[in-house]
Amino acid sequence: MKLLEDRIRQDGVVLPGNVLKVNQFLNHQIDPQLMYEIGQEFARLFKERPVTKILTVEASGIAPAIMAGLVMNVPVLFARKKKPSTLDDRTYTAEVYSYTKKVTNTISVDSKFLSKNDHVLIIDDFLANGQAVKGMLEICKQADVKVEGVGIVVEKSFQEGAGWIKGQGIRLESLARISSFENDTVHFVGEE
Ligand code: 5GP
Repeated sequence: MKLLEDRIRQDGVVLPGNVLKVNQFLNHQIDPQLMYEIGQEFARLFKERPVTKILTVEASGIAPAIMAGLVMNVPVLFARKKKPSTLDDRTYTAEVYSYTKKVTNTISVDSKFLSKNDHVLIIDDFLANGQAVKGMLEICKQADVKVEGVGIVVEKSFQEGAGWIKGQGIRLESLARISSFENDTVHFVGEE
């Protein structure tokens, strides 16, 4: 998505540890117009899929997910990172190791918001090693829902998450695909 790549080139900051900071428009301050275009793009990419619900994880997945939900006219559910006070059979949970924070969080979803006949589109802001997506897939498995695909705003294609998701036979659509941060510069897949 050219608009997104241009914005990453303009405002993205490469940090040590292969982390891209995009606080200007996605992870702290949010550009609603760009998020809306991102939502439209996800809706276009998954238009043949019978999606009934979008699943993301708090906090930074919510902005792109809600815009996709608006355009696709489906509810948006976000997994919470705070451990629920009571763990019972009404809560689906998964362990997720955070790439940026280096801690393991338990993510959870109230089972009343996922039913067996749901068709779920998973959306997140970044894809690195795939831990967040794996956690959401685990929740989908517990809920016995059909996963229609994974939509990612920024994929770091040189890390292992993208290959792993495709290897599972799951459709993956990423709006910006980064091939490297060589010389502290963002390089996209397919560019010279
Ligand atoms: P993964 O679980 O795929 O290893 O990492 C994805 C999660 O870690 C995303 O939900 C995102 O919050 C965070 N993350 C991973 N890499 C980056 C990055 O380069 N920049 C930012 N801002 N977040 C990242």
